[in-house]
Amino acid sequence: MIVVLTGAPGAGKGTQADMLAEKIGLKKLSTGDALRKHVKEGTDIGKIAGAIMERGELVPDDVLFKILKAELDGVKADQIVLLDGYPRNLSQAETLQTLKDRHPVKAAIHLDVDRSALISRLSGRRVCGSCGATYHVSTNPSKKEGICDKCGGELAQRKDDKPESVAVRLDVFEKTTRPILEFYGARGLYKQVKGEGLPSEIYERLSKLIKAI
Ligand code: AMP
Repeated sequence: MIVVLTGAPGAGKGTQADMLAEKIGLKKLSTGDALRKHVKEGTDIGKIAGAIMERGELVPDDVLFKILKAELDGVKADQIVLLDGYPRNLSQAETLQTLKDRHPVKAAIHLDVDRSALISRLSGRRVCGSCGATYHVSTNPSKKEGICDKCGGELAQRKDDKPESVAVRLDVFEKTTRPILEFYGARGLYKQVKGEGLPSEIYERLSKLIKAI
């Protein structure tokens, strides 16, 4: 079964999905991570997606469906999948419903964060090029500037965390992704969690909700 984790860019979906995967054994499936892997490996999908992602726009639905299908095919029937970053528009939400016999959506949880907090989180985010660990220049800095505490890799700003792309991503969320909240609301699956506070506090709110599903 699937739990959709939604929220604007910078809402903390990835961080929370990692914590939920580690602590309660959910399987995290991030379409953004999958796409970044394709870009890094220079696959055909990566060639289509790279420039679109840099601009902060959405990659075409048919590409996303291929990624989703490939990832879900490897999931065991009794596993709870936490979908981070999919669906991002109504058409993707409808596509996901077509898989409901094998992968029913049990809840869509929205991490709600103020726009000003989102901008500050995204502009200060730094990511390790080797292991993917994330930091923030002021709220969660690495011990040595520019170097990952975990693996010694080099930290960099994601290209789509630059101000011009951040503005596009936030607008895409408002115009294109937000309507999916109503889609899930109409099906009795929508839940909202306050995405501000310490990561551990947000985790407590989320895990309580997920355990009750
Ligand atoms: P994320 O890491 O979830 O913020 O995703 C990074 C970028 O990958 C997004 O800005 C989009 O360009 C692309 N992307 C990720 N998931 C999707 C999706 N479901 N539909 C279209 N594009 C996506």
